[in-house]
Amino acid sequence: MEQDTITAISTPIGEGAIAIVRISGEESFAIANRIFPTKDLAKVDSHTIHYGSLVDPKTDEKVEEVMVSVMKAPRTFTREDIIEINCHGGMVSVNRVLQLILREGARLAEPGEFTKRAFLNGRIDLSQAEAVMDLIRSKTDKAMSQALNQMDGRLSNLIRSLRQQLIETVAHVEVNIDYPEYDDVEEMTHQMLVERGTAVKEEIQRLLLTAKQGKILREGIATAIIGKPNVGKSSLLNILAQENKAIVTDIPGTTRDVVEEYVNVRGVPLRLIDTAGIRETEDIVERIGVERSRKALQDADLILLVLNGNEPFTKEDAALFEAAKEHDIIAVINKTDLEQRIDLAEVRAVAGDVPIISTSLVEEKGIDQLETAIAETFFEGELDSGDLTYVSNVRHIQLLEQSEQALDEALQAVEDGMPLDLVQIDITRTWELLGEIIGDNVHESLIDQLFSQFCLGK
Ligand code: GDP
Ligand code: ZN
Repeated sequence: MEQDTITAISTPIGEGAIAIVRISGEESFAIANRIFPTKDLAKVDSHTIHYGSLVDPKTDEKVEEVMVSVMKAPRTFTREDIIEINCHGGMVSVNRVLQLILREGARLAEPGEFTKRAFLNGRIDLSQAEAVMDLIRSKTDKAMSQALNQMDGRLSNLIRSLRQQLIETVAHVEVNIDYPEYDDVEEMTHQMLVERGTAVKEEIQRLLLTAKQGKILREGIATAIIGKPNVGKSSLLNILAQENKAIVTDIPGTTRDVVEEYVNVRGVPLRLIDTAGIRETEDIVERIGVERSRKALQDADLILLVLNGNEPFTKEDAALFEAAKEHDIIAVINKTDLEQRIDLAEVRAVAGDVPIISTSLVEEKGIDQLETAIAETFFEGELDSGDLTYVSNVRHIQLLEQSEQALDEALQAVEDGMPLDLVQIDITRTWELLGEIIGDNVHESLIDQLFSQFCLGK
């Protein structure tokens, strides 16, 4: 495939002291040599870094001191010749470098175009490309290592092996259709289809189960902090976030809006939502907050239900447990530094199995226990192993669900004693759907759409 030479700034603009401008394509070395006269980069070893000056060939003016990385095809990300120019991170200097490269004949890369080339040149498959996209977006350490795993091709390898099993099954069926003269062939075929089909289906189901955890890792556990006014919701949010974005006051009901904050609790990403408390109110401004609270509650994966230990447990508190009962709940009894008027037995009776943690947010007590409870609620030590294959992508999830359904139809057809060639159609369809996850059988438009979601320069 004939490809022109593309360039882009591949580090976040304005962040960090060093910026990298990347060039990929046949002309990479020629362009770099025109603006970096220090040495002939086409002659140096691949995967080496060179210090020198960048010079505007028109004016012979020195533009900047830079480090230039040289990576020769095909052992590169795009499988093309790649030059990376490390320069000062400021907007002005990065732009000057980029302008110079553009003037010397490279084209500005479209968003995701480097990764698209890596895919088109067979360097990575589609699920790996999407992992790169997730990596760029991932907000936490865990999501990062998950994305890295996927980039490693764990998911791809598993999908390949499932497809292989399906192909072998189809091949067997084929043979048996072609040579029906052996008596027990039909019996064997049916049994084999059920066994192998079920095995593949179980793998698909396992992948779908991890999908929820994958989503959580990427987007954060949607965590709603609910409770009556003044119990300490905003204080809790602040302590967990360790910065003061939500307003904390003494006046009941002053958290008027839903405030969101990302925090990392023991490697577990939480998307914390502070709400105005779920109670009926006459105050219109506050009511907007309350409605949003209900919405936040609906969307939450985890509810931190805060109670005031300084006051008796009320019907309102009990109503909150009721409203949250579909979700994972952790009850927080706050203000333990004050006289305790709450009846713990009463709380336990309503809370059931829900973990109950006592805190004093002003004295910063009980926070550790709360964080442990949060981590345990979701991970139960399991996700730390890092060797699960996570599916974290909506497209993958949909395709897996469709695959499971197609396979189900195949298994049902076997059970109903349908002709084998009909069964085979469903199995082939499963095989195709799985193929779409790793980018076999995908159409150009889908590819374009996927890659256009990338940030520029990746
Ligand atoms: P919210 O309305 O539920 O968001 O409650 P806030 O976080 O705004 O807290 C209400 C009031 O209770 C503030 O004056 C806090 O300083 C105070 N408060 C919060 N946590 C504690 C605690 O553990 N002990 C005591 N004594 N006061 C607290
Ligand atoms: Zn508040």
